[in-house]
Amino acid sequence: MDANAHNLVADIVVLGGGMAGISAAISAARAGCKTLIIERRTSLGGMATTGLVMPFLGVFSKGRKIIGGNLDYILQTLKDNFPFSVTKLAFDPEAMRHTLDIIADNYQIDILLDTWVTDIVMRSNTVAAVKIYNKSGAGIVTARQFIDATGDADIACMAGIPCKVGRDNDGKTQAYTLRFMMGNIDANQAQPWLNERDKEKGFLDLLETYAKRYHVPILDMHFQNFEVPGRKDVLVFNVPRIIGIDGIDGCSLSEGYRRARRIIRVYARIMRENVPGCAHAYILSTAESLGVRESRRIVGSYILTGDDVIQGKKFADAVCGNCWWIDIHNPQGKGVSEMVGPKGGHNDIPYRALFSDQVDNLWVAGRCISATHEALASARIMPTCIATGQAAGTAAAIANQKNTTASLIDISELRRKLVQDGAIITGINLCDGHPPC
Ligand SMILES: Cc1cc2nc3c(=O)[nH]c(=O)nc-3n(C[C@H](O)[C@H](O)[C@H](O)COP(=O)(O)OP(=O)(O)OC[C@H]3O[C@@H](n4cnc5c(N)ncnc54)[C@H](O)[C@@H]3O)c2cc1C
Repeated sequence: MDANAHNLVADIVVLGGGMAGISAAISAARAGCKTLIIERRTSLGGMATTGLVMPFLGVFSKGRKIIGGNLDYILQTLKDNFPFSVTKLAFDPEAMRHTLDIIADNYQIDILLDTWVTDIVMRSNTVAAVKIYNKSGAGIVTARQFIDATGDADIACMAGIPCKVGRDNDGKTQAYTLRFMMGNIDANQAQPWLNERDKEKGFLDLLETYAKRYHVPILDMHFQNFEVPGRKDVLVFNVPRIIGIDGIDGCSLSEGYRRARRIIRVYARIMRENVPGCAHAYILSTAESLGVRESRRIVGSYILTGDDVIQGKKFADAVCGNCWWIDIHNPQGKGVSEMVGPKGGHNDIPYRALFSDQVDNLWVAGRCISATHEALASARIMPTCIATGQAAGTAAAIANQKNTTASLIDISELRRKLVQDGAIITGINLCDGHPPC
């Protein structure tokens, strides 16, 4: 890094080091830009590490691969370094944490961990700098381009870009989940039992019995669990569901963590007292970050809609595909309130969903792109976040090199570069408007 921790300079600064942020940084650094990630937690990965979220979903549709590029590179680096901690699309979050450090080293990406972005400095239509806070105290980071990959559109909101939260009619967001891992499980006994029971009669009666007995607000209907590659006696659970928590309100978030951990303690009892092979199981770890499925998203130059997803809409300025369902975890209680598969296998995500015309040098990537509540319920999965990160990082690098703005960069150059770097954009002709290649 250039100066001391209080006054840093880079070409491109990525705010938030989740899967969208690291992907944006890889692409920016690969293009030769001096790149810095600022991350409030103590490791990269966001939900994939501090949220214990895996596997990668929505990579294939109807047998066709929809997401490639930086996702492939991340998976390959994971396999090269931790061969026992990864299967095709599932991984050990701890191995992912180390893999992302290795990737940052490979690309000489500067990382500022344990550091909050607290404010920004605007100069007319551009972000001139971000203010930060960490153990050194308050500091400032100046750069030519910025990418908001905070998941919550923190920086876009500070820059005055209009944002929306939740459903149009009442602002309610999808339910959140704090994932946890249990150890000392005989997974050979536990998993078949859990899956069979889920198919046959579900978990409602068991969960309701324990909710009453221990006075906790249980809203799960299933006990979704995943094996963790390389850990034979561990399962990671995609529960408990909590509602009414605001992912951009500090007090509300604190309540969310405490409520979820109260339920997790009851879930550990349920496991020990009911599930074969779990008599001596224990809570191995609880996610450091609450699983916020939805908070702020920007109102950008184009707003991706639920209909675009359902119809499998294609765009002339597509930067990636997206093929997951509209997967809405009921904001008001139990169940998944809508689940519609995209017709035609996948929809495109247009470049215009990654910026607002109001700010010249700021892009968004990942969970806070410009989309409706319904469209985000599909585009929020990690591979799509990685793909929008790759697009935002590549676009910012082009703007940096050509001294232009987010809305004025040459989109065919962006799309060509993305495909050259392994991204999958269907229908793209690499020779479009250029001499035969
Ligand atoms: C419970 C749950 C289960 C899921 N299951 C799956 C699944 O099985 N498969 C799948 O593919 N997807 C799944 N998803 C979706 C997916 O995990 C997320 O939508 C995706 O990882 C979001 O990536 P992101 O990089 O946009 O945001 P995040 O992963 O949230 O990363 C944002 C980063 O920014 C940092 N940050 C935020 N604000 C600041 C600030 N002001 N200053 C500095 N840093 C900041 C955060 O600490 C974080 O590291 C799930 C999501 C949840 C919540």
